[in-house]
Amino acid sequence: MNFCEGCNRVCSGERCPQCGRKKLRAVEEDDFCLIGRVERAFGDGLKEQLAREHIDCVLLPYGTGVRANFALPLESYLLYVRYRDTEFVQTLLKGNG
Ligand SMILES: [Zn+2]
Repeated sequence: MNFCEGCNRVCSGERCPQCGRKKLRAVEEDDFCLIGRVERAFGDGLKEQLAREHIDCVLLPYGTGVRANFALPLESYLLYVRYRDTEFVQTLLKGNG
């Protein structure tokens, strides 16, 4: 799999589907990858849950700055976890959804 350092996105192709960048490198186990957007309350709970599993995660507030112009919900996070944990976390998210 390839990794875009600009977007923290993993993709299988040669070009990032988010920004179109072609200079991708092979993803490494420790790379933080974008999982998706989660509701703020859910994200706070998830962070505690992942801490108990000793999994690192990053939650960035979403909906600030220019994105507010698109009237997206303010009370949410973008969730990033290390590449080696993405499968586990995605399973968790499905289980909670
Ligand atoms: Zn990109």
